[in-house]
Amino acid sequence: MADCIFCKIAEGGIPSKKIYEDDEMTAFYDAFPQAPVHFLVIPRKHIRNIMEIDAENSPLLGRLLVKAQELSKELGCEEKGARFVVNCKEHGGQTVDHLHIHVLGGRPLGWPPG
Ligand code: 5GP
Ligand code: ZN
Repeated sequence: MADCIFCKIAEGGIPSKKIYEDDEMTAFYDAFPQAPVHFLVIPRKHIRNIMEIDAENSPLLGRLLVKAQELSKELGCEEKGARFVVNCKEHGGQTVDHLHIHVLGGRPLGWPPG
């Protein structure tokens, strides 16, 4: 999608610190990290949010999650764990309207969210 920053990151039009990419997804470090490990995993396809996941594209979401946990292990989160977050729309705190999984780790995280 033309004016979507995450589409542009996936296409390489906006620079990012990439961790992984293949033909259907890319993972890159968050520009404003909230934990020692904070990266995002996104589909290349412009899916606006998790409410657009249906039976047809749910296998893609599964692959994004598997890659998110694999990368979390590679980045040192296997022993102590991490948080896997998908914000959705206004009340969910979503600020970029392109589906993304946050992975946060490297320190204890509070709960519940504010
Ligand atoms: P949301 O609030 O939509 O769940 O998360 C969007 C995330 O994208 C935020 O954590 C924000 O820091 C990150 N972000 C926004 N713009 C950019 C950017 O241009 N590059 C990178 N690497 N991260 C970004
Ligand atoms: Zn997009």
